[in-house]
Amino acid sequence: MTHTLHKIIRYEEVIAPQSELNTLPILLRNPKILLIGGGKVALQKAEVLKDNNIDFKIITINILPQFKKLDIKPSLKPIEVEDIKRFNIVINATGNKDVESLIDKCKLTQSFLLNTVDVPEKCDFYFSALLNYGKLKVAISSDGASPTISKIVRNKIKEVIPSNIESLVDTEFEKRRSKIIDIKSVNRDAESLFGSVTFVGAGPGDPDLLTVKGLKEIKKADVILHDYLVSKEILSLVNRDTKIINCGKPHGSNNLTQEEINNKMDYYVREGKRVVRLKGGDPFVFGRLVEETEYLIANNIRFEIIPGITSSISGAGSAFIPVTARGTSNGFSVVSGCLKGNRFNDNWIELLKIPNHTTVVLMGLKKASIIVEKALRIGVKPNLPVAIISNATLPNQTEIFTTLENLASQSINVPTPAILVFGDVVNLRDKLKSNKNILEQNLKNTFEYYS
Ligand code: SAH
Repeated sequence: MTHTLHKIIRYEEVIAPQSELNTLPILLRNPKILLIGGGKVALQKAEVLKDNNIDFKIITINILPQFKKLDIKPSLKPIEVEDIKRFNIVINATGNKDVESLIDKCKLTQSFLLNTVDVPEKCDFYFSALLNYGKLKVAISSDGASPTISKIVRNKIKEVIPSNIESLVDTEFEKRRSKIIDIKSVNRDAESLFGSVTFVGAGPGDPDLLTVKGLKEIKKADVILHDYLVSKEILSLVNRDTKIINCGKPHGSNNLTQEEINNKMDYYVREGKRVVRLKGGDPFVFGRLVEETEYLIANNIRFEIIPGITSSISGAGSAFIPVTARGTSNGFSVVSGCLKGNRFNDNWIELLKIPNHTTVVLMGLKKASIIVEKALRIGVKPNLPVAIISNATLPNQTEIFTTLENLASQSINVPTPAILVFGDVVNLRDKLKSNKNILEQNLKNTFEYYS
């Protein structure tokens, strides 16, 4: 070993001029390392070595108190030629010229690899920016050209490496030791660690109402599984090479079942794909998130959830209806008109009797007549204002303003998806809208006056 190292050093010195050095990244087993220095730079190196469970000795005349936490016993003395003999790697982190010339002298007679921190021409090797996952290591180097770039690249790579890769590598190590080699299963297990599911709320429909985070995920996705509510405007933002799978229409015959959707997520994740489960509005609002995440949790599949703008609030807002307004509505409820199996949900009808309250009903359009019947039966005022807003925030948005007693007839032939908004706030819309128009007219007049 000593002989070979000696040769390498001679080769570099004699044959290759410094600027044309070629480097070879290798992993050294149990290197004997000497770190010279006890200042900030040495501390940083010591931390790297410690993080990588590498044994090393320190010789220094002064030492920062921070070294204490690293639990190493330094030799507090000036470095001598004799000290270097026992090591095959020397790191000079002193920045001191006398130490440098002492090492230069040793170089003539001893074989060791030298790293003089921040002096590339006095280095036989460079440190790499490291990622360490037990036996799996990623080393990035720019041959000393720019440690900063190396660190940036390392951090980018870190973002895509699953934290549980270490245990998979350990398991595979054990298997190999027992001569169990099943490449197919290693492939599948490793790929699936890279796969993930992100639930993204697509908002009510207008692509400009997507969240920035949601859009970023959509752009990064390999596969998009979307529900019927996701508008074509939003789907047009998906990259060309991303696979798009429509998981269903409302009460449509070609809906995928929940089990089929789960299987699809599972299949693509196991192929290492980034799956985006794109849902209308906010995935937490009537989004069947629980069923799908339960499945992922049970199957050890990583997932994230990115909220979206829910149609229940923005849908009303898009028709100039504020769900709350001082003196008119102190709060609001969001309910579903439908239960599983398209059964009518009636446990919320009493809400319509609460004064100064807004009730937004999702999935309720087709249940309008039964809502009216039940509400009138329990004494809700027949002239309670109601709005029906379809395709909210989309170019084909439609709005109908009516009252409870006329809701059933008004709801016939209204396109879906639609929300129903019950409450006196519905009447604020005229005021808001006309005030806005007056304001715009005023601004226009002012502008014309001055131009
Ligand atoms: N997670 C969604 C709601 C899913 S339930 C959200 O937060 O908005 C599906 C219901 O949402 C539809 O039946 C309809 O009532 C409502 N909906 C969704 N998008 C809509 C839109 N653009 N306009 C009107 N209603 C909408």
